[in-house]
Amino acid sequence: MGELTGRAAPLGISADLWDILACPCDAHGAVTPDEATGRIVCTVCGRSFPVRDGIPVMLLDEAILPPDGVQGDLLAGD
Ligand SMILES: [Zn+2]
Repeated sequence: MGELTGRAAPLGISADLWDILACPCDAHGAVTPDEATGRIVCTVCGRSFPVRDGIPVMLLDEAILPPDGVQGDLLAGD
């Protein structure tokens, strides 16, 4: 009865939650799901956060920084 509205739920996280998720970094960057690793990645600082039991763990203590400080893979196009 309307629970499936066609909105995607990447990583098992509801679209409503994605709407309010932001990185806890200084820039409060927008975050995007990384289906390959099952983690949430900040588009600004490149930190990635774990998801436990469908709950995003948006804590800097839990974040993994990208090797070079920039998420080159996500921006590499062409
Ligand atoms: Zn960030």
